[in-house]
Amino acid sequence: MQSAIGFDNSYARLPERFYARLNPKPVRQPQLIKLNEALGEELGLDVSYLRSDDGLAILAGNSNFEGSDPLAMAYAGQQFGNWVPQLGDGRALLLGEVIDVNGVRRDIQLKGSGPTPFSRMGDGRAWLGPVLREYVVSEAMAALGVPTTRALAAVSTGEPVVREEVLPGAILTRVSKAHIRVGTFQYFAARRDDEGLRQLADYAIDRLYRDQMDAENPYLGLLNCVIEAQAKLVAKWMNIGFIHGVMNTDNVSIAGETIDYGPCAFMDEFHPDRVFSSIDQQGRYAYSNQPRIAHWNLVQFAQSLLPLLGPDEKRAVEQAQLAINAFPGLYQNAYQSGFNAKLGLAEAKQGDAELGNDLLALLADQKVDFTLAFRQLGHEDLSNFKEHFEDQNAVSAWLVRWRERLDSENASLGQCRLLMQSANPALIPRNHRIEQAIAAALEDNLEPFHRLCSGLEQPYQDPVGESDLTLPPQPKEVVPHTFCGT
Ligand code: AMP
Ligand code: MG
Repeated sequence: MQSAIGFDNSYARLPERFYARLNPKPVRQPQLIKLNEALGEELGLDVSYLRSDDGLAILAGNSNFEGSDPLAMAYAGQQFGNWVPQLGDGRALLLGEVIDVNGVRRDIQLKGSGPTPFSRMGDGRAWLGPVLREYVVSEAMAALGVPTTRALAAVSTGEPVVREEVLPGAILTRVSKAHIRVGTFQYFAARRDDEGLRQLADYAIDRLYRDQMDAENPYLGLLNCVIEAQAKLVAKWMNIGFIHGVMNTDNVSIAGETIDYGPCAFMDEFHPDRVFSSIDQQGRYAYSNQPRIAHWNLVQFAQSLLPLLGPDEKRAVEQAQLAINAFPGLYQNAYQSGFNAKLGLAEAKQGDAELGNDLLALLADQKVDFTLAFRQLGHEDLSNFKEHFEDQNAVSAWLVRWRERLDSENASLGQCRLLMQSANPALIPRNHRIEQAIAAALEDNLEPFHRLCSGLEQPYQDPVGESDLTLPPQPKEVVPHTFCGT
């Protein structure tokens, strides 16, 4: 056991019906795959201890941090629109909370640590593939400047996990500003447990939105904050071509972080209807549906908060409706200012949305790689950008309009290009590279995984020399579908 870490487990002090207390289930032969030292230091943890055998035992669930108080959180949620009154951490355990070096309270959670009372039919485990995928993508998102849960460590368990085939087991250590979901609120609201709902809301406000404590109606304040955080978050996803894949209400964080990396993926060729998840046959969570779905999820959140908004039910509904109605505008503003930056535009002007949409239509029509095209649009020499398009007239006509719009900015072309470089990543965790890294890991070769992780650390900088990590897949490398990690 380690003595130096200051755990302070506020969630464990909430009433017992909020969770189930239990220890992780030990695994046979854990091995460290990767430790995120920078994050460990940010959390104030002793990184060399985490690297030791004792540290590994903790990251594998074979022993506990001193001061931790492991528990599985209860929550509910709508999965693909279908109400499930009880979900909960079926394969995760919140070990506890630490205050990081910036004074921010952070959850430390094991994912894949064995069955819990919320496991339903599941085994409580994760296999190596989704653990590596979540590690790569969540850390890439953080580097890209997108709010997200983080990955502190990945370990292999030395135990098999049975899915459609037998696969090696693994555990991810996930870090979050708080693992509170829309579905956590729904859990209490559906039970008409107003007292529990209020305690949860007070907890969330105290932990995440302290400014609202003094607001006239702190619960309405909480609703507004969560709406704004989601609007900004999903706008960022849209601006970098990220498709979450399972935007169920249990996978929507009150803290405004991207959470639950399942069948998520970044688009290569742009198409608004793009879907990766093999189980999303209706395209409910398609790229261009994400803002609409976020809005729908927030309606569910607002509904769960109604009992707290005030004694007058009609008035509560009106207030919630008003708050919800702000979402499209908040989203659009965040999206458009992000998109303008992609075009090198620091100001907002009439016609910007049309200019952006026309480029996207061209990209979709000509099957152009989203990330590469925007990165190259920021180059002085546009020949690489233009090469992507078969219809040269169309792209030239668009470029003339864009140049005119750039000329109307109060900035030099050089400044516009700098803005573009900070908004258009050179590197994203491309799906084929992730799949290749997972395939190699299954052959005991972790080198591609490590290379991918380090290659994605500075996504807005062009890599030194040629790097295959910037490139879209060759036709034979394309990964059309992703699968849930369960
Ligand atoms: P997800 O699709 O990862 O958001 O998970 C949805 C629900 O299923 C959550 O309650 C999870 O805890 C649970 N779950 C997913 N995979 C497993 C598993 N292998 N064992 C037990 N529960 C699981
Ligand atoms: Mg989930």
